[in-house]
Amino acid sequence: MMSIYGVMGDPVEHSLSPPMHAAAYESTGVEATYLRFRVEEGNVKEAVHGASALNIDGLNVTVPHKGTVAALPSVELDETAERIGAVNTLVFGDEGYDAEELSAEEEAKGDSENENSNGDEKPVARGYNTDASGALRALERKTEVGGKEAVLVGAGGAARAIAFALAGEGATVDIVNRTVERAEKLADEVNEAVGNTDDTEADELDEEMSDVGGDEETKTATAQPLDALEDVVPDADIVVNATTVGMEEDVSPVPADALRPHHVVFDAVYTPLETRLVRDAEEVGATTVDGAWMLVYQGAEAFEIWTGKTAPVEKMNAALREKL
Ligand code: NAP
Repeated sequence: MMSIYGVMGDPVEHSLSPPMHAAAYESTGVEATYLRFRVEEGNVKEAVHGASALNIDGLNVTVPHKGTVAALPSVELDETAERIGAVNTLVFGDEGYDAEELSAEEEAKGDSENENSNGDEKPVARGYNTDASGALRALERKTEVGGKEAVLVGAGGAARAIAFALAGEGATVDIVNRTVERAEKLADEVNEAVGNTDDTEADELDEEMSDVGGDEETKTATAQPLDALEDVVPDADIVVNATTVGMEEDVSPVPADALRPHHVVFDAVYTPLETRLVRDAEEVGATTVDGAWMLVYQGAEAFEIWTGKTAPVEKMNAALREKL
């Protein structure tokens, strides 16, 4: 039977996921279709439960619903999605997430109260975050990430996924954001998730830090205001933009004179593809990765979760770039 996948968001009309996934189905012989679903802010829960009831196989979730979906009690989160607090990929109909099966279980238990009033609390889907692994796979096209020093500009949704991905791979991350409090909050969460120290002597350092409140030098993630970029960028290995700066205007969030030839510069912005940051980086001879690669790899990973097949990354990339 034809599988049904799609993307829910608002707005969603311009999503580039449909052609990318269609190319993957064509190339792998998967019988499936991929649709756009515009879901308004107040209807997220109904949409997820409706998709489950309609036996839709999987959904991507995009702006502004990633956090709302992660907070639904009826969506069971994988570890990465839970840490980040955002879901961009839902799987329905897996064992344990089949609505029919679940209500049959309820009946068998004779749980009549739950049948009507509390059914929503039962899992209908499993939620993943493939933005994190997508960003990592994009960067890994050009560099190893473990042990590297990264500067990440931004502390919004994309930055959260990228910060956890970099730190999880063993990089240190300077999170630089216009609203420094958001960077501080994200840095605290990342440090907590990774145990707050480098790998060596982790236990002793953990103990010492809990006594003195933490040593900036040993922390995986730190937070900085935007004007720190001049200082922190030159010595970094990896520079990532995860702000919206560069989308509307031809400006870069990173001062051009802080860029160096040894940098690997990754811009999550993909409209335009050639941002001012990417151009500035190319001009100094740095290595660059554009935002389309993150989009391709987050889609590739969703395809792999849904179908169990290896994603045809180059085909998906070509289909996406044709539309950009
Ligand atoms: P978001 O949650 O709204 O976060 C926006 C970020 O940009 C915040 O850190 C914000 O700082 C910062 N910012 C906005 N205007 C700024 C300005 N004038 N100067 C300095 N900083 C500014 O957005 P998002 O969802 O994370 O998306 C960020 C970018 O990543 C977008 O371009 C999006 O298209 C892209 N993205 C790409 C992919 C991909 O697959 N390639 C996936 C997801 C997102 P404050 O905290 O101070 O407001």
